[in-house]
Order: sequence, then C-alpha cells, then structure tokens
Amino acid sequence: MNEKKLPTVAYFSMEFGLHSDFKMYAGGLGILAGDYIKGAKDINAPIVPIGLKWKQGYTDQRIDAEGKPYDTYHNYVYDFLEDTGVKVSVKVRNVDVICKVWKTDKFGNNPLYLLDTDIPENSDAWITGQLYGWFGEERIAQEIVLGIGGVKAMRALQIPIDVYHFNEGHAALAATELIREKMCAGLTFEKAWLATREEVVFTTHTPIKEGNETHPLDRLEYMTAFNGLTRDQMERIGGNPFNMTIAGLRLSRISNGVADLHADTSNKMWKEVSGRSEIIGITNAIHTPTWVDERMTQAFENGGDLWATHTEIKGELIQFIADRSGIQLNPDNLLIGFSRRAAPYKRSDLIFSQPEIIEPYLESGKIQIVFSGKAHPLDDTGKKIVSNLVAMMKKYPKAVVFLENYDMTIGAQLTRGSDIWLNNPRRPLEASGTSGMKASMNGVLNCSILDGWWPEACIDGENGWAIGDGFETTDFAVLDRHDSDALYDTLLNRVVPTYYENRAKWVEMMHKSIETTRVEFATKRMLEDYYNKMYIKA
Ligand SMILES: *Cc1c(COP(=O)(O)O)cnc(C)c1O
Repeated sequence: MNEKKLPTVAYFSMEFGLHSDFKMYAGGLGILAGDYIKGAKDINAPIVPIGLKWKQGYTDQRIDAEGKPYDTYHNYVYDFLEDTGVKVSVKVRNVDVICKVWKTDKFGNNPLYLLDTDIPENSDAWITGQLYGWFGEERIAQEIVLGIGGVKAMRALQIPIDVYHFNEGHAALAATELIREKMCAGLTFEKAWLATREEVVFTTHTPIKEGNETHPLDRLEYMTAFNGLTRDQMERIGGNPFNMTIAGLRLSRISNGVADLHADTSNKMWKEVSGRSEIIGITNAIHTPTWVDERMTQAFENGGDLWATHTEIKGELIQFIADRSGIQLNPDNLLIGFSRRAAPYKRSDLIFSQPEIIEPYLESGKIQIVFSGKAHPLDDTGKKIVSNLVAMMKKYPKAVVFLENYDMTIGAQLTRGSDIWLNNPRRPLEASGTSGMKASMNGVLNCSILDGWWPEACIDGENGWAIGDGFETTDFAVLDRHDSDALYDTLLNRVVPTYYENRAKWVEMMHKSIETTRVEFATKRMLEDYYNKMYIKA
C-alpha cells in the first residue's frame, strides 16, 4: 500500500470469530471478520471493528442418543473485556435502549468494540442474547443496535471515521443514522443519501436470493428502524419488503463479493436493482498464524520433511477424534475432512449418494471421513442432514466420524490434520470457502468443485484436484448426479491411487499447495485489495 495516511475504516459485523471460547461468531462470516481484524493489526491498518457482545453466542449443538442434533445455550462471562465507559442510546419499539460499549484486543486484533444491551437500565436486555437466534422483530432490534448504535458509538468514542464498511447487510441501518446526521446539519434527504454513499462500502456474502434478509416496512416502522426517515425514503433505499442486501448496494459507493466467481454471480443476481453500486470481486483470505500449523510453516520454509510433519499432525487429529468420539481411525489410511454448516446446497452427503460405489472403500476403511457442522437452530432440513451424517457414522464405524458442536477448535484440527479437504457444493452457491485455504496452507490437499475461491487457486492434479468441470444447471437432480459421478471419478481414480501408490507425487502436491496459496490467500493481500479497490478513492 502507498505510504499516504490510510483512511480510517469502521468495520461493522454481526459476528467476529477470534477464538473458540469467545462466542461472538457462528460461521464463515464471523471467521472472516475475526481474521480480518487480526490481519489489520499485523499490518497496522486503521480499521475499527464494531459488533455486538453476545451473551449466549450461537448454539452449542449436541447430538442426542437417537443421533439427532439439539441446541443448548449458556450464559458466558468474559472478564477480560474492558469497559470503555461509553454508553449510547438507540430507539427500539420507540423505547430508549442503552448500549454499553466494551472493548478488547486480547486476540492480537485491532481493538474491537462490542455493544451490549444486557445491563440493568434496559427492560429489553435480551437484544444481544443470541446470535442469529431469531429472524423477525428481534433480528431488527439487533440490527438497530449494530448499525445505528455502532455509528453513535464511534461518535461517543470520538473516533473519526472516513469509510463505513458493512460486512454483510446486517449493518445497513447504520446508513439511516449517517443520513439522519447530515439532514440534521441541514442537507436534504437526496444530498444526505448521496454524501452517505460516498463514505459507505459494502460486502455481500450470500449467493442465494432467499438467504438475503428482508423485513416488511411495517415491521421496520413498528420497531423504530426508520430512524427519522420517511416510509417513502426507506422504500427507495431497500424496497418493500425492505431487502438488507439491496439497501447495502444502494447505500454504498462500491460493493464486493468474496471471490471473483461470487462477484459475477452477485452482479447477475442483482442486475435488475436500480441505483446500486458495482460489485467487484475481492477474494477472502485467512489469518495464517491462526490457522496454519507452525511446524508445517517451518518445514516448508526450511526444506524440512513435509510428510513427516504431516504425519505428526495427522496423528494428533486422530487422537483428537478418539478423545471426542471414542472412534479410533487408522493413521495409515486416507483421511478426508469435511466440515461446514449443514445446508442443502453444501451436499455433505454427496459422497454417500451411490452406495454401491463408495461402500467397499468405507467398509474396508481405505477411505475415512471426518465430518463436522452445525445446522441453524430453526432449520429442520439442516438438522436432517446432521442426523443423516450421524447415521452414516453408525453404519460405517471404521470409516465415518461426525464431531458435534463444530467450532474454531474443530475447524483448526481438521484443516491441519486431514489428508484431503473435500468440498462439493452446488456451484455457484459457495461464496468463497475459507476452510479450503486453511487446508491448502497446511499441505492438506483440496478436492473440490470449482466454486468459490477454488477456481482462482486450483491447478488440477498439481496443487489439489478439481471435481468436475464447473458444470451448472438449476435442475438439481441433474446437477447432483453429474457432480456425484465427477466426485467418484476424482476421488477413486486420482486421489486414492496417488495416496496409496505414489507418495512422492503426493508430497510434491503438498508443497505446491502451500506454495501457491500462502501469500495469495493471506489477510495481507486481502486487506491491500480492500484499501486499494474499495477504501481509497480512485
Ligand atoms: C474456517 C471456518 C469456517 C468457514 O469455512 P467455510 O469454508 O466457509 O465453510 C466456518 N466455521 C469455522 C468454525 C471455521 O473454522
């Protein structure tokens, strides 16, 4: 980046994944945000993160005796949080809600500000209770606190901000406050909106239309989310129902998707939206000190023995699996890792789709698979997916393991110690997929559909494997059959023989995997892209 003074950026996110025990995250969006603010600290970038202080965080999801997932919640206390002494007030259902502002830089991150409504002054202390616990009024209340409360917190803390970055649409209501401030200073709504657009940038994350949150205008009005704007003005920003992504696109000077393919998909998806910003691609990245095993980094940099290092780390994973599940896997046999949110498009069970093909490998243990992943507490389809994986564990006790309560600890273990990292979403529905980056930099070879980040990194057969050819159709029956065939072809005709019969080639691929990803998909590159393409005006 150039040496000029960099703009100061307020980075709004509903979740931050900084550490397994600091339950401010649910999944990939939060992991990205956590890595982002650690990376910002590493390169001294003036990014000021703002989020909510969740009392219970996201679900702790366990498996019951029948093999079904169930959700548990606990009140967590974090004694390391610093009290900034600042409180701000927002209106929810026309009642003042006080938000206390905490701060922490405990995890090697830029100081993170967290708004908390769980204080005696509030009758509605539960707004910051559960992350993604609700969809309707409660979600809007959370978004008022994050967006409007977040802007007010910056003012009260007297941190001058040049750019407001909304990481996903959850923070879009922040713009109502930015517009309101300017109207109070005498600007018309039009001028205030235009001026606000000049200081806002927006990141969209979900390539599924239904995944983009909407709220009826009536409900927003009832919740006091208009924040002084009129119904007509709100409708012009986000439509009716008010779409948080469309609002983000219309409130920003520039937007981005989280991989090049995702940017294309998003531009197509939102083609009809008038007055929106352009969506460019800035591919996600990971904070390498958090996710890459130091022993592997040392071995790679000093010409050490990658295989011996991997074997040691794989042994630790196998012990971790035994401790958590009681299942003893075979360290000599191929171990596939697969952990992601249980959502249908991710197709966790694609590998089981033609049992006559895969069964012999699972029965012999020649292929072993370790799964993890949570379903959203209100998603019955997702819960069925988890139950099905648990059933597979019972069916193939030598070869299939499901680890309950997926979190950063499990994520780190699996992306370090597996041999293969499998990813088989329905293209183009995987926005980015940072777990594959963690794997690749640990010398764990990706075997993936050409979706999300993988088309940018994959040199098929050299640094990992592509499944299929990027085929797309909206006929899911056809797509699933096509990709199932492609998965078996790649896995059984290329991955398995290489693993068992050509170790030298495997190790060469591990080397190439690390070499081709460790710089390109590390936070420094990503932050530089955000500064050069989004934050610094051309
Ligand atoms: C890395 C990580 C993610 C994001 O990975 P995806 O590839 O997007 O699924 C989600 N959850 C946890 C716990 C992680 O460690």
